[in-house]
Amino acid sequence: MAKTILCIDDSTTIRMLVKKTLEPLGYTILEAENGQIGLDKAGKNSVDFILVDVNMPVMNGFECVKSLKSQTALSKIPVVFLTTESSDEKKALGRQLGVNGWMIKPFEADALVKIVRMLAG
Ligand SMILES: [Mg+2]
Repeated sequence: MAKTILCIDDSTTIRMLVKKTLEPLGYTILEAENGQIGLDKAGKNSVDFILVDVNMPVMNGFECVKSLKSQTALSKIPVVFLTTESSDEKKALGRQLGVNGWMIKPFEADALVKIVRMLAG
């Protein structure tokens, strides 16, 4: 069965690039433009993997992941940050929240495919 990837990012361009990279490989891509909408979509759909930005309006990526990890039904979904942020402090915060990885924008299509295949199957 096709795996479903949820891409949470306020950048339309990034969401489009993620979709363009993963859809041809058979993945179903759901999009959300902020953490709040992302949480809502994660709760209403069966999601196999979540890519999340850090800086977003309404609800940022850290708040979003914190909430995901506090919900039993969602806490096991692999999460990777996809962000322009690269400071050790922010990465450490990500690790504390229990995320599976940290990718820096702009991303290489091959690297994204590799991490998605590894974590979403
Ligand atoms: Mg952003």
